[in-house]
Amino acid sequence: MQGERPTVEESASIGNERMHQLIDIQSSDPSEFFSRLEKLSWIRLAGSNTLANPGAFHVAFLELVTLLQEIVFNQRGPAVLGYFERLELIYSAHFGATYNHLYRVVRVNLGVLLYVNELGATYRWLDSVILNSASVMPLDEISRVEAPADVQDELRALLAAGEGGLPVTGKLGLTHPIGLALLRFAIAHELGHLIDLGESQRLQDMWRENAWADYNDALQYGLSARWIDQAGYARLQRTSLDERVAARWGREFVADGLGFYTASRIPPPNTVWLQIAVEVFFHSLVAVYRGDTGSETHPSPMLRSTIIRAGQRKLRRVGWPEFLAQHWGPGFITSELLATAIRKIGR
Ligand SMILES: [Zn+2]
Repeated sequence: MQGERPTVEESASIGNERMHQLIDIQSSDPSEFFSRLEKLSWIRLAGSNTLANPGAFHVAFLELVTLLQEIVFNQRGPAVLGYFERLELIYSAHFGATYNHLYRVVRVNLGVLLYVNELGATYRWLDSVILNSASVMPLDEISRVEAPADVQDELRALLAAGEGGLPVTGKLGLTHPIGLALLRFAIAHELGHLIDLGESQRLQDMWRENAWADYNDALQYGLSARWIDQAGYARLQRTSLDERVAARWGREFVADGLGFYTASRIPPPNTVWLQIAVEVFFHSLVAVYRGDTGSETHPSPMLRSTIIRAGQRKLRRVGWPEFLAQHWGPGFITSELLATAIRKIGR
């Protein structure tokens, strides 16, 4: 049944209660974790638990609770957690979430947790290349770096995954700071949708205005860096987009912005890990989708990452070359390394 939309006060009170239930599970014996989670009336675990490594999911869930705590109590208020009627966790190898506004049901695929967990060798490789390069590497030097065999295996698995999802080997990439930052960004993006849904029209409009300004900046950068051509530029102009598509993309940009902001507020890992993680995330989408392609619901991954960069550049009030060299150096190297590696493997 479609329920009445609760008031902010009602959401806050429900949210508070839910937060305490989650903290309670978090502090309980890990062996009782799944059974206690299943007993919560507002959470439903859908499908069968096929996780090869339930421990990894437990780690991911603790992160989720930590993030929720940060958002619920310190930033946006408990209404975030009390706004929806039911949270459905689905054991699917896909990633992403869906939101039923009418019934206030949120469905989150757990695939993203599995996939973050699978890239352990990739994190270690990026870590060693980036930490070994004292400053920003020249482009031709980056393009000469070869990915080690175990990294190639992981990236090949991403390319092969496609719509079918990822095989679950039960690795523990989550224990690496890049994996952790990636997980936080992905979860904070989904929570960003919830925050956005529960907010006032005025704030929603303001966030969109901001996001479209960054979008314009990203498009202009794309044109000057020859990452998009004139025709692509004209096609992607905000005014050329179908209204329905623009509305959906706007939601994603706002969730990305809120996700990045939330993840950057939680120490550790620091912002260097976060920018590496964001680039790994979007390049992984490129690999899984077999190209930098957008859809009616989601803009292309590279566009999304460039818009996050544009927002960060705006905060620092510097030009693109200076921003990429000095403020987004680790992220930029990551992006170049992965683009080269994925291109080579995909051939
Ligand atoms: Zn989204």
